[in-house]
Amino acid sequence: MPSELLRETFPVGPLRCNCTLLANLETREAIIIDPGDEITDILTRLARRQLTLKQIIVTHAHIDHIGGAAQLRRVTGAPVLFHQADLPILGMMEMQAAWLGVPTPEKVALDQSADDGIAAGIPGLEAEVIHTPGHTPGSLCLYFPKQELLLAGDTLFAGSVGRTDLPGGDTRALLRSIHTRLMTLPEHTLVVPGHGEETTLGQESETNPFLQPGMQP
Ligand SMILES: [Zn+2]
Ligand SMILES: [Zn+2]
Repeated sequence: MPSELLRETFPVGPLRCNCTLLANLETREAIIIDPGDEITDILTRLARRQLTLKQIIVTHAHIDHIGGAAQLRRVTGAPVLFHQADLPILGMMEMQAAWLGVPTPEKVALDQSADDGIAAGIPGLEAEVIHTPGHTPGSLCLYFPKQELLLAGDTLFAGSVGRTDLPGGDTRALLRSIHTRLMTLPEHTLVVPGHGEETTLGQESETNPFLQPGMQP
């Protein structure tokens, strides 16, 4: 990343969801991806560098990724974007909270559906939304072509893929999404998954057991 751009990825909440802060330090604009929890910490990160939050983008409506979005939206006024196909998952927030044994978070409003192909991000950090259904119907990945960076949500992990046994999950759709929408991007693209270690598409293409021949849909 050039020096005027900042990326901080840090785990939040009991499921250690990778939340990402991206900022242009010249314009002081920022976006946050997957503010699942620990909003006070996220606000401190923004305030420390005097950043203005322009967008809150959520890769899918599971509680560990979206749980803090309403609070962050309320405090900063930034719009929330996720894919409208996850509205039914958002509607199950009480059940999701019960699975984790945590209080039900404030329900967030959808300001704009992050549909396939729409432009997101800020000047200097332009992103393309790639709809990758499978883990949930509305799961998306955020691709930054200039930075060769992919925020993959729970679609693709280092050495694994997203689970499909929760409501709305679809294994064939997940593998189709990965093969047709992600593995067609440049192989040195850095992948920041929704949980765990960073990787590259080339590394996953070679070593991820779920992506080897015979596992294809
Ligand atoms: Zn998930
Ligand atoms: Zn997750």
